[in-house]
Amino acid sequence: MILADLHTHTKYSHGGNSPAQMYAAAQAKGLELIGFTEHSPRPLGFNYTNEYRDKLTRHLPDYASEVLALKAANAGGPCRVLFGMEMDWLEGQLDFTRASCTAYDFDYLLGSVHFIGQWGFDDGSEPWKNMSQEECEVQYTRYFEIWERMLASGLFNIAAHPDLVKIFSVEQFHVWLAKPESQALVRQGLAALRQAGMSMEISSAGLRKACREIYPAPPIMVMAAEMDLPISFASDAHVTDDVGYGFARLASYARAFGFTEYTVFDRGQRTVCPI
Ligand SMILES: [Zn+2]
Ligand SMILES: [Zn+2]
Repeated sequence: MILADLHTHTKYSHGGNSPAQMYAAAQAKGLELIGFTEHSPRPLGFNYTNEYRDKLTRHLPDYASEVLALKAANAGGPCRVLFGMEMDWLEGQLDFTRASCTAYDFDYLLGSVHFIGQWGFDDGSEPWKNMSQEECEVQYTRYFEIWERMLASGLFNIAAHPDLVKIFSVEQFHVWLAKPESQALVRQGLAALRQAGMSMEISSAGLRKACREIYPAPPIMVMAAEMDLPISFASDAHVTDDVGYGFARLASYARAFGFTEYTVFDRGQRTVCPI
């Protein structure tokens, strides 16, 4: 059974609920651990259409103090709390990112690629709609090149939603992923992940998005299993209903590829739990 959800958001970015409400949902679902991983502030120039960067920067201290209070109050269980952050990997912004990573005493950090250059590619389906297969493939390749640099930075503990780039073009993505050179590129990223001592997130968020598919896709699961990579599980919940979303399905998905355990990070230390 999966008893830890290591990727959740709150009202302090674009989520709908307070940390206390998200915590109550985790407890109600029988989880033993909830990790809060609010989005990291971003520098100017990296904008979504429905931008919440200002709000996040303004409320970061509230996020930190509420989550740390919940963590202290529930240190003895039965549902413990971890204080984390979902860090954006932004090309050319290493100093900004490093400073964000150490702004608080985080228990762990997710590394995420949401931007190709300065394009927030998961912000909406519109830019993807008129792209040819070839144009999509250029973006997949760019994404996984950036992904590898994110992993190799050594700044993060968990690689969030590894193939997020498929979000609005899943059929084209699978055509690309079937090619040997694409698999070689993804495998290079997975090797960097292992080298950095990270785990790979298996996320039910994709089931709720246009791609209707778990992150990452089966061919990437096969590679990760061959490399015996550590994994962790996540809902990427932005509202209480989605805490622990699809965890029974995630468990059988992971087992189907031979995984028997998952990893939890606490202050950089890894703990392994049976699935
Ligand atoms: Zn994300
Ligand atoms: Zn997230």
